[in-house]
Formats: sequence, C-alpha cells, structure tokens
Amino acid sequence: MLWGIDLGGTKIEGVVLKSVENPEVLVRRRIPTEQKLGYTHILTQIGKLIRLMTEEAGVKPDKIGIGTPGTLDPKTQLLKNSNTTAFNGQPFKADLEGIINMPIIIANDANCFALAEAKIGAVKSHNIDAKVVFGVIMGTGVGGGLVVNGKIINGRHGIGGEWGHNHLDDSGGQCYCGKIGCVETVISGPFTQKYYTSLSGRENHLKEIVDLHKAGTDPDATKTINRLTHFFGKAISVVIDIVDPDVVVIGGGVGNIDDLYTDGVKSARDFVFNDGLETIFLKPELGDSAGVFGAAMLVAD
Ligand SMILES: [Zn+2]
Repeated sequence: MLWGIDLGGTKIEGVVLKSVENPEVLVRRRIPTEQKLGYTHILTQIGKLIRLMTEEAGVKPDKIGIGTPGTLDPKTQLLKNSNTTAFNGQPFKADLEGIINMPIIIANDANCFALAEAKIGAVKSHNIDAKVVFGVIMGTGVGGGLVVNGKIINGRHGIGGEWGHNHLDDSGGQCYCGKIGCVETVISGPFTQKYYTSLSGRENHLKEIVDLHKAGTDPDATKTINRLTHFFGKAISVVIDIVDPDVVVIGGGVGNIDDLYTDGVKSARDFVFNDGLETIFLKPELGDSAGVFGAAMLVAD
C-alpha cells in the first residue's frame, strides 16, 4: 500500500492507495491545517491524521510520502520557498519523523503533481511511453516539476523544474522574489487579469476574460489571451530546449484555457530550437487529487 499526505495551507489530506498498478483509494481523510496555531501544532495535526488513517486502514505504514508547499533544501535539510510561511527555515523532515517514528519522503506540491499525472494520470491514460514529463502549475503562481524515468528530479538545490522565476519579459514588472519580469509575473492568473484591466479598465475574472475572447466581442480580452499564449510558448520553449520532455501537463487554473494547447503550442514551436515540435501537451486528469496521489507515489519503490 502507498501512503501519502498532502500538506496545504488550509487542509491536510491523506490517502492510502492499493498500488501504482491499481491505484484504488483504500482510505482518504482530511483535517484542517490550523496554520494560525503555528508550526508545532501543524506537526501534531499531521500525527493525528496518520493515527486516524491507521485506525481506518487497520495497518501501520512503514513510510509515508509527504507533499509540501515548500522545498526541502538538500544541503541544510530546512524547508524553504513555502507560502505556508510557518514552515520556512524549519527542519520539517527531522521534526515530523521524530513525532511519527517512521521515515518520510518529501517533495513539493508541483513535483507531486507531475509525478501523479505521469504515473497514474494524464500521461498514463493516454498510454504514452514518456521518459521525460514536465508538469506545469499555472495558477496564482507559476511552478513546475520534472519527472524522468518515473522519478522526480529534485536537483542540487531542490529547485528542479522551477521555471516560474526565470526571466521572461520586463513588462511583467517587479516580482516578489526580487527580480523583474519573471515568468510568474507575465503569465500567472492574477497578472493576466491585471493586464486585461490595464487595457480595458474593467476588473474581470480570468474565466470571464476567456469567455469574452471566445465570443469575439472584446478586443481587449483577445489581446490578453493572445499575449498569454505568446508568452506561455516563449517561456515553455526554454524548458523544452533544456530537458526536451515527451509530455507537458499543464495544471492550475490558467492551465484550463484551451488556447494554450493550440496557440500556446504554436508559439512554443516558433521559439524552440528545432524545426518541429512533437512534445505532447495534455490537460491533467487527477484534479485536486494530484497532490495527495503524487505524495503516495513517492513511496512507490
Ligand atoms: Zn520572481
């Protein structure tokens, strides 16, 4: 059995799956993170969740995969880059292993997403023999995870696949990371909405902008979506030039936009260092479950 836990800012979710070949859900539980009560309390909550899952499963796990909002720094073993800020700078792995008395394997949520979609999600259901899978998260922020031969590439600094803070275009302006024109500031959901507002003076949600573009009645909406697909292609072409994935899975709220799979791919073809582009772009299939399923896949070997 595969045990996984997805640690989120508002909820902690756990799952027990039968196997990689047959990922039937045997147990699924969630409890609130109660982030306000601090780091130690969150650790206690995870311990509580594992107890509840153990009772329900009738067996104890010997190891657990944990998906976290941040990354474990391979050198310092401290968690970093987490938007659940209580975790940053904490020896999360050692602390949690001390509480639950078993080994854990940690990966950030974008890596868990990529692993789940590669092993039991979109890549598997399309029956693609993919050696290299790049999982994109495009929503409030922009992140990514890289899976090669079924394994996450964490890298020297634990930032493997993090393409969201590469430079893309100065028009994105100042990013919270300190740089200017990051991928995230140019093509994330909030910045796409901001761009539309700068053209039209109206504050529409991304979904409404997409609908207006589809209806063909709002030139500002069309300009916004064309800008998004242009820059998506430019940004992803850099990833393709470096790791040359067989498949790119585009998750997150922005990833739902159909134009990314047509105009966005065309744009990537223009920028990539090759005459053609055979990379397959897929929508994810596991929805909100990708994080927790991916966490469980961490213990698959
Ligand atoms: Zn940045």
